[in-house]
Amino acid sequence: MNVQYSIVGGGIAGLTLANLLQKNNIPFQVYDKSPAINPKGHGFIIPQEGLVILSEILDWDQIIRKGNYIHLYEAFNDRGELLASIDTGGVFAISRPALLESLYERIDPANVHFNKEIEQVTVKGQQIRAIQFTDQTIIRPEMVVASDGVGSMLRKQIFPTSNLESVGYHEVVCTIEHPALVEFLGKRLLKFHHHAGGRAFGMLKISPTKLIWYVQFDTQRFPLQAGSATALKQFIEENFGNWCAPVQAVIQASDFQNAHHWQLFELHHLPTYAAGNTILLGDAAHPVLPFTSQGVVSAQKDAKVLTELIKSKTDQETLFSTYSDTRMAEMQEHFENGKAMMNNFLLPLKQQSVGIPMSVKIPAGNLRRAFRSTSQNPPPSGINVAI
Ligand SMILES: Cc1cc2nc3c(=O)[nH]c(=O)nc-3n(C[C@H](O)[C@H](O)[C@H](O)COP(=O)(O)OP(=O)(O)OC[C@H]3O[C@@H](n4cnc5c(N)ncnc54)[C@H](O)[C@@H]3O)c2cc1C
Repeated sequence: MNVQYSIVGGGIAGLTLANLLQKNNIPFQVYDKSPAINPKGHGFIIPQEGLVILSEILDWDQIIRKGNYIHLYEAFNDRGELLASIDTGGVFAISRPALLESLYERIDPANVHFNKEIEQVTVKGQQIRAIQFTDQTIIRPEMVVASDGVGSMLRKQIFPTSNLESVGYHEVVCTIEHPALVEFLGKRLLKFHHHAGGRAFGMLKISPTKLIWYVQFDTQRFPLQAGSATALKQFIEENFGNWCAPVQAVIQASDFQNAHHWQLFELHHLPTYAAGNTILLGDAAHPVLPFTSQGVVSAQKDAKVLTELIKSKTDQETLFSTYSDTRMAEMQEHFENGKAMMNNFLLPLKQQSVGIPMSVKIPAGNLRRAFRSTSQNPPPSGINVAI
């Protein structure tokens, strides 16, 4: 008989896996703490590799209509002077709720259970024997997929020595509806960098009517305590309010009730992505810095690699080690890229090797053709560009 996979966490990783398993007639159940598909969240960039996985499971024409292709990345300084202009080769921007909805739509609703927040986990060795949810229901899973996000409770149970550590920058993200600004942005991602480094403001269209903006800031130089919408507004106005016109226009059009202060972490001391009867997927296994734009696509690739291994009917030991080794090797590269991008971002703009942040491989030709940085260093070939 086929093993049943209990997927705990119905975010991007969990729902991508559920779609892939369903397509291959592999039994699964999804459990998520939200009362329904979570409408919270803003949006992200999905590189080509992620689009290929999505096209396997979703109605592609429908998805395209919900998001926006970004063809051009333009970097500016805070005065609005152009530093670089890069053909991205086509990456896709979409809001998190729109992508979640589309992923959920295709799954048999009988297999998705909401209001299932983990309360207690019974573990023997590294085997999860039972999970009790706050509604007092209990499951006794055969195989667990821990896709419960960056703060994963399941990971903490199985790997108690793994720990999250804050990194030296934070983000504030917000979505706004503004037809004129949306039209102005079109297929471009604009990013403005402060001349002294450590502060950046990005904006892009993520749907026919909405744009997302985000700021990145060095928390040492620009500390922001978790706080109210008023405190967020004040922080943004103080640190970005006198920048060039597009930044000012976006700030003025924003409702800060809708803004989210995002604290960022690195995960340390996780020896493997699969142990006992549990497989870690997505942010539960490997939070990555948003600079790399790899959060969503890495979760999608975890789901794809795992599905292919399950389909191959390999024994559990080989499945666990192959999954873990393959995914860990790739993630290591993104961790290193993320760190390098963060360090670069913290430097004064003139010392930054490239005033560009997306760990998405952009062909070297696209960069060389368009690069107009004030930096003396031309970009190396096949560079990772970060957002
Ligand atoms: C509400 C929310 C908003 C986000 N907004 C953005 C954004 O605007 N931009 C961006 O780049 N990234 C955002 N992210 C993160 C982004 O979705 C992930 O980095 C990436 O997609 C990897 O997906 P994931 O499925 O591993 O994690 P997530 O997408 O974080 O999914 C984790 C899932 O696990 C569930 N869960 C967590 N704890 C428990 C528990 N104890 N019991 C049961 N279920 C649990 C959550 O409800 C969630 O559905 C957001 C995440 C969340 C949860």
